[in-house]
Amino acid sequence: EQLLRVSGLSAGTEDNPILHDIDISVAAGETHVLMGPNGAGKSTLGHVIMGDPVYKVSSGRIEFAGQDLTDEGADKRSLAGIFLSYQAPVEVPGVPLYSFLRTITQKRPELKMTAKEFRKRVGDIADELDLNQSFLTRELNVGFSGGEKKKIEMLQLLLLKPKLAILDETDSGLDVDALSVVSRGIEAYRRTCDGALLMITHNTRILEKLTVDRTHVMVKGRLVAEGPASLIDDIDAHGFERFEREAEARG
Ligand code: ADP
Ligand code: MG
Ligand code: MG
Repeated sequence: EQLLRVSGLSAGTEDNPILHDIDISVAAGETHVLMGPNGAGKSTLGHVIMGDPVYKVSSGRIEFAGQDLTDEGADKRSLAGIFLSYQAPVEVPGVPLYSFLRTITQKRPELKMTAKEFRKRVGDIADELDLNQSFLTRELNVGFSGGEKKKIEMLQLLLLKPKLAILDETDSGLDVDALSVVSRGIEAYRRTCDGALLMITHNTRILEKLTVDRTHVMVKGRLVAEGPASLIDDIDAHGFERFEREAEARG
């Protein structure tokens, strides 16, 4: 029984087809890794699964928890339990982080809490992540460093407890401190929510602490290889050249 089932998916912008005939399935609680050279289409796949209106699906389906979400908006997908960490999170001036978190929580009946319970829950998560609570009164992502934005995403992840978290290079360009918060966030998510993960990453260090069930390789908008966790070591040692050559040969 698959949680996420993407089948025959082709998508892109108005004038730029980016993804071609993508098939990928993730079962509940599994950890999958998506790798590929720059510009392969990894982020686009994350955004298309999340329902980013920038991209149009030209064929194929996106099913999640038994529902066909292909034509649904991002809000509905988020409520269904899909979470995407953006490579570049948006800044929302005028909205303190705490209010933002309260608002997104209140949209979810399964997360119904009193104001007091909510305060306690957010405080506990901040502690777990070793996050300074002064963050909570700051405007969402405004003037936050890359590392701080990632910490906030981990806070959202642990608060929302999605069924599937797609983390797009959540670990890129982070200092040691931020990287440890992200690792801790991912571990806590796996431990407390038993949620599924689709990790888009180049950093094999962050993967060391995770049990990876499946690895996917994307080249030029196509998934060209799929294998066990050992595929990551292979890519670590040899890069993507083999896959790029094969893609070239296929035309
Ligand atoms: P990756 O995450 O694997 O590095 P992306 O998904 O960001 O790759 O990009 C894949 C390709 O699609 C790139 O050539 C990129 O320029 C193009 N692309 C992505 N988003 C857009 C967009 N909104 N408009 C036009 N082209 C885009
Ligand atoms: Mg197919
Ligand atoms: Mg990307």
